[in-house]
Amino acid sequence: MHLDYDYIICGAGASGLSLATAFSLDPLFSKIKILIIDPDFPKVVNDRTWCFWEEKESSWDEMIFHSWKNVLFKSDNFNKNLSLSPFVYKMLKSKSRYNYSNQIISKNSNINSSKAKVLNVLDNGAYCEVKTSSGVYRSKKVFNSILNWDLINNTQKYPLLIQHFEGWFIETEEDFFNTNEATFMDFSINQNSNTRFMYVLPFSKKEALIEYTLFSKNLLNQNEYEDALNEYLKNLGIKKFSIKSKESGKIPMTVFPFEKQNSKNILYIGTAGGWSKPSTGYTFKNIERKTKTLVEFLKENDTNFIKFSKKTRFWYYDLIFLDVLFQNNHLGSKLFIEMFKKNSPNMIFKFLNEQTSFFEEIKIMLSFPKGIFIKTILKRILKIK
Ligand SMILES: Cc1cc2nc3c(=O)[nH]c(=O)nc-3n(C[C@H](O)[C@H](O)[C@H](O)COP(=O)(O)OP(=O)(O)OC[C@H]3O[C@@H](n4cnc5c(N)ncnc54)[C@H](O)[C@@H]3O)c2cc1C
Repeated sequence: MHLDYDYIICGAGASGLSLATAFSLDPLFSKIKILIIDPDFPKVVNDRTWCFWEEKESSWDEMIFHSWKNVLFKSDNFNKNLSLSPFVYKMLKSKSRYNYSNQIISKNSNINSSKAKVLNVLDNGAYCEVKTSSGVYRSKKVFNSILNWDLINNTQKYPLLIQHFEGWFIETEEDFFNTNEATFMDFSINQNSNTRFMYVLPFSKKEALIEYTLFSKNLLNQNEYEDALNEYLKNLGIKKFSIKSKESGKIPMTVFPFEKQNSKNILYIGTAGGWSKPSTGYTFKNIERKTKTLVEFLKENDTNFIKFSKKTRFWYYDLIFLDVLFQNNHLGSKLFIEMFKKNSPNMIFKFLNEQTSFFEEIKIMLSFPKGIFIKTILKRILKIK
């Protein structure tokens, strides 16, 4: 059987590009024939802003738009200025990240691209078939980053919350912002029985990204996001501002077993592969880490993708946290307040990176209201049985 490619990458967003870039930079993959399929490839737009924290300088620093060493946590009755050391919170505009990868990939003659839409991906055991709007391609392996929302929406077994947000890049008439301090979470807004907060990322005295974020079961009407942002800006005391651009999005918050979609020759990557942290939606650094692991996996000549994903104890922590938040969506602010009150930011960010020891995790878990967590754990155990 003639195969058109060794690898096909479906979707050239953050994870597809991350993988294609890693293949481009590694001489061991220089003879592998690769096809990238995405109607939008190569992307040259600022369709999202990526924020993440890192302990040290990294190759992202050349593309970083702004960074902060301190962030604020706010609520009605608890405010805390968090010094993030040794972490730095960094903001990167997607256009810079896309440009960086597109340039590297375009230099490699073994990587081709198609602007087709992927319709179906099939592993028949010996090879894969990718049906697209402009024909069928056959390859040894497929890396698929196309998220199927229907699949996770239809699962009753695990709670599904959506992280949804609307962000405005605004410019004020007067100097207003302190560029050294971002507001990580501001819960001092109407919770309306949900988990809702504002996120403020100032990058000049007059400019900031203000994002209204919810962790909830349902999306809002567009005017509700806008009303909340307008009210928040008014309450901050910002009377005159212009909106330079907008950003909105939704990220699934679920421990859905994405790895069960994988087969011997098809691997789901990015959010579609469960690489978004279920309890926070943060994905960017996970994509970086998982890409490295995947490249090593391929180099070890392991060709069975069913063996790629491994469940860790953090999956269980995320499950319980999401169970609590799903059943008590109004309690989100209380849970985050307790976590930030009782733990150092360093420990929290290490925990969210899944780099803490078991004893550190116990300490963090003890900072949450115990009754509700014990009840939720018991309910979950009964459900599993
Ligand atoms: C607005 C927004 C802001 C975010 N901010 C952060 C952040 O600050 N920090 C963080 O860690 N995470 C953030 N995330 C979460 C996560 O990092 C991003 O969603 C990230 O882009 C996920 O990468 P991905 O490759 O899984 O998906 P994507 O980047 O969405 O890539 C999927 C690609 O598939 C293509 N595609 C879709 N359907 C088809 C089809 N049928 N055929 C072919 N191609 C197709 C799309 O064009 C797209 O290019 C954000 C998400 C959004 C939506």
